[in-house]
Amino acid sequence: MASVEQLEARFRSLLPGAVDLLHAMVRLESHSFDKPGVDAFAEFLAREFRRRGAQVDIVPEARRGNLLRARWQSGAPRKVVMLLGHLDTVWPRGTIEVRPFRIEQGKAYGPGIFDMKSGILVALMICQAFGEGNLDPEKDVVFFFTPDEEIGTEAGLPHLQAEAAGCQAVLCLEPSLPGGKVKTFRKGVGGFRVRVEGIAAHAGVDHEKGANAIAELARLIVRLQEMTDYGRGITVNAGKVAGGTAANVVPAAAEAEVDFRVSTAADAEWLEGRVRALAPTDPRCVLRIEGGLNRPPLERTPAVVALYEAARGIGRRLGMELGEGSTGGGSDGSFTAAMGIPTLDGLGVEGDGAHAVNEHIVVDDIPRRAALLGELIRIL
Ligand SMILES: [Zn+2]
Repeated sequence: MASVEQLEARFRSLLPGAVDLLHAMVRLESHSFDKPGVDAFAEFLAREFRRRGAQVDIVPEARRGNLLRARWQSGAPRKVVMLLGHLDTVWPRGTIEVRPFRIEQGKAYGPGIFDMKSGILVALMICQAFGEGNLDPEKDVVFFFTPDEEIGTEAGLPHLQAEAAGCQAVLCLEPSLPGGKVKTFRKGVGGFRVRVEGIAAHAGVDHEKGANAIAELARLIVRLQEMTDYGRGITVNAGKVAGGTAANVVPAAAEAEVDFRVSTAADAEWLEGRVRALAPTDPRCVLRIEGGLNRPPLERTPAVVALYEAARGIGRRLGMELGEGSTGGGSDGSFTAAMGIPTLDGLGVEGDGAHAVNEHIVVDDIPRRAALLGELIRIL
């Protein structure tokens, strides 16, 4: 079996073929809402993982693209580590004609290349190293890909949770932060729809008989906004309001859409409790609140830090200083972290421009990331 340095050298020798494979993957456009596109990409990857010796299942999904699960069986399945990714991109079919795959000054460009087809490429390279005997993971490895991460993972989530339940750790192939940093903290994201039902009345003749839903909602919004606590990393934002029919009518209905972000699961519970405990000031108004947490926070727990330190140590042997950072958005890694499974996110190839037209990766970083991730799987 190869050392991590030898592993990097081996991956480097495979780089031309890997770049061709990445090109093919970028050409297979897989927008979240394009089921035929996501399905074709899943089929392509199924063949690639099978060729490398993995056991592959395609999990059918009616509304979104299918899921893909490939399993490397080591014969010593005391532990299972998951490499987690998503098949979909934010780019509709046809984007490839406008922005074709290209390499310029060591950077590879193309729709979905950073988020996250290059991450999937790294997973394939690692699977290949298992098959060639250059890397013995000493455990089973599940390569798991959801079809709808970019639109909230509604279809993929139950499957992901079922699969992750048996795993000791999850390594998430999401894009890295600038400079190739991994993500050790993500905020949790949620939202509420706050609806007030009042009593309509003539604004001149029967003002006192009306219960003004807009006035009631306005009081509630002030109380919601005041739940913001920057020190704790809690923000509440009433971002959209609607209500009323005409200036001379006491409005019978008003509603607001509210976004919130939290740093811990405990804060999410605290905030949801406070929001649900809100009561109207005017007892004639009826308050209806829907919603809650959509993506839990990925907290920087001691288990997450331990994973990061392990990755950082391997990085040093490869001559790189692996940094860490945080982001306000969620990913599938947020879900596995919330299950209490140690999760390290942002392990994808160095690059920039996720969801942007300048989306690219640093080609030279591919063999190094593959070696880092491969060795990390081995030592867990
Ligand atoms: Zn992504």
